[in-house]
Amino acid sequence: MSQILSTHGYAESHDMESADLVILNTCTIRAKAEQKVMSMLGALRKIKVQRPGMKICVAGCVAQQEGDHLLQRMPHVDLVLGTQNIYDLGTYIDRVAGTDRPVVATTMSKAFRIPAFLPADRKNSEPADELYSFKRFVTIMQGCDNYCSYCVVPYTRGREISRRAQDVVEEVRKLVAQGVREVTLLGQNVNSYGRKLNGTALPCTFPELLHQVAEIRGLQRLRFTTSHPKDLSDELIGCFRDIAILCPQFHLPVQSGSDAVLKRMNRHYTIANYLERVEALFSCRPDLALTTDIIVGFPGETDDDFALTMDLLERVRFHGSFSFKYSDRPGVRSCDFDGKISEEVKSERLAIFQRRQDEISLARNSAYVGSLLEIMIERTSENAFQGRTGTNHIVHVDEKTDLAPGDLLEVEIVHAGQHSLKGKVDSMH
Ligand code: SAH
Ligand code: SF4
Repeated sequence: MSQILSTHGYAESHDMESADLVILNTCTIRAKAEQKVMSMLGALRKIKVQRPGMKICVAGCVAQQEGDHLLQRMPHVDLVLGTQNIYDLGTYIDRVAGTDRPVVATTMSKAFRIPAFLPADRKNSEPADELYSFKRFVTIMQGCDNYCSYCVVPYTRGREISRRAQDVVEEVRKLVAQGVREVTLLGQNVNSYGRKLNGTALPCTFPELLHQVAEIRGLQRLRFTTSHPKDLSDELIGCFRDIAILCPQFHLPVQSGSDAVLKRMNRHYTIANYLERVEALFSCRPDLALTTDIIVGFPGETDDDFALTMDLLERVRFHGSFSFKYSDRPGVRSCDFDGKISEEVKSERLAIFQRRQDEISLARNSAYVGSLLEIMIERTSENAFQGRTGTNHIVHVDEKTDLAPGDLLEVEIVHAGQHSLKGKVDSMH
């Protein structure tokens, strides 16, 4: 979006109070994410009363889901921009400029194709956050066809469609020429990349795409997210052995430790399948940091089902995880499932899971103490800096540095916390 806007005379700003245009790019995956959007729109209403010329755009999944309803609830919004319409942001922004009439653009089509959409020249699209000068996300696909029974994504983001490999490679090449050193390839289910390609595109699988991107000279780190366990191929696992710049980090959402729950979730794998894939990953890349997503309190989840999730946590000892209380989303199948779990039980299970995960993360992190890890510097200040390891751990160093964000440096890990590490360089020279 900032790329498009940079060619329409806009520059990025950090300041909501003075911006001419505020875009809320929204998520509706869980009820909590949607509530955040609504409360932020409430805050924006107050600013707009003071400065009626300010334009407000709601883009993404909440826009797609709510459409016209959003304007009824939030009449101060100028543009409601759905997930497939984002590429036309420039046209719509011009349309709402200088008028008071709001526009709703939330068409969704099976024939949707991701446009070539290459980055603009750097001078016009200087990012406001220095992080994005050396690391970027690159979308490789949009939508999802998996229909996990709890998930709103197939409805809000539409059918799965892969971007052309040549467009992805070209975008990364341009970004690298502009100084980007780390790229994360993005899709809801990257493992199925290439199954449904844009009309004229040449066939390409995800492992093939990874190899093509990794060959781009100057790119120093490559990551991707997210993978679905049912589509995790041996070829993809092999990439962790064969591609030097592919970081030893893997996010493999499992959702639950109970086969019965997984079945009702429509996930198409068992815990035995999952454990077999995890073993294959670690035998290819022993230093891999594995993370996952967990939903607690899915409809019908018994104490025994939850105990199986805790069991899985003990067996895999994930380096970290994102865990959530199940919430009903509009139009998804699990809304109608029996055996809804009370908020109280969901909160209890979440707390039990998170407490144990924190202990395991701390133990995993403590194992890095004493070792040398390469970090890419992310932020520097006068007497300290922080960087990120290939395993995606943040490392804080309380020392001065002449290096800049994006530079690589080896540090000795001296202390571990649950969510980050501490390192030092001075004694190494
Ligand atoms: N495409 C990815 C993840 C997409 S959503 C995948 O398949 O794994 C990110 C996470 O949000 C999911 O992994 C799931 O754990 C969580 N989530 C999705 N819908 C949810 C719901 N209705 N309630 C609670 N958590 C949900
Ligand atoms: Fe949602 Fe991911 Fe399942 Fe797709 S694969 S439906 S995005 S949880």
